[in-house]
Amino acid sequence: MQITRINCPSSKYSIKCPDVTTKEGISVHNTANDASAMAEASYMLGNNNKCSFHAVVDNCRAVECLPFDRSCFASGDGRYGKGNARMINIEICYSKSGGQRFNDAEKLTAQYIAYLLKKYNWGIDRVTKHQDYSRKYCPHRTLDLGWQRFLDMVKMYLNERKYVELKQGQAVEISVPFYHTGAVEGNRFQYDNRTEICWIHSNTKSLIKNDNLTARAIVCWAEAERVLVQVFDDQFWIKTSDIAKVL
Ligand SMILES: [Zn+2]
Repeated sequence: MQITRINCPSSKYSIKCPDVTTKEGISVHNTANDASAMAEASYMLGNNNKCSFHAVVDNCRAVECLPFDRSCFASGDGRYGKGNARMINIEICYSKSGGQRFNDAEKLTAQYIAYLLKKYNWGIDRVTKHQDYSRKYCPHRTLDLGWQRFLDMVKMYLNERKYVELKQGQAVEISVPFYHTGAVEGNRFQYDNRTEICWIHSNTKSLIKNDNLTARAIVCWAEAERVLVQVFDDQFWIKTSDIAKVL
């Protein structure tokens, strides 16, 4: 997962993140907009409204745009409210229209939150939502689709094993969002900054794209953190963390 950091100029701290605070968990939001994470972060930092968030995630990347040791204005419970002061506030992009790119953004957010929970040694009980701090129905689309479903997605990433034992020829479901790989038919690409350069065939692409995160592949060989998989006649590397299910 790509994490991009944009620094908020300290001259804007008084508007965007006035207080140094200790964090106790995460507050999840939906942007109710259709802009990318970079666009949301740049708009937020560029205006002078007391409206801000620590990070924003779309279908490609997480953008961290405020220091995590400071407060923000996202959860609607005032400068010293628990949501604004004690939570890392994370926005999920593309919630206005929804669809595939929102689904991918939500999935990447679940991955990002699992990463943060591991980093801070927190459990799933630390994942909260805007609605817990004020009456706003936010994250609206995530709530429409099911809050428990979202928590389960985070849990899946949280509990995933670092090592997966796979036998020759065993099938797995891969949870690699198509946009995540940046793969374009006929292009060579680098998966997740690794050096293995793979050739993407149309059948690989269509499998991942059409089957929505659950492409089936045949495993040839496994090692720590990476698995070499074969999709029809093609083969490519994936991280074990991208394996959703061993069949
Ligand atoms: Zn919100």
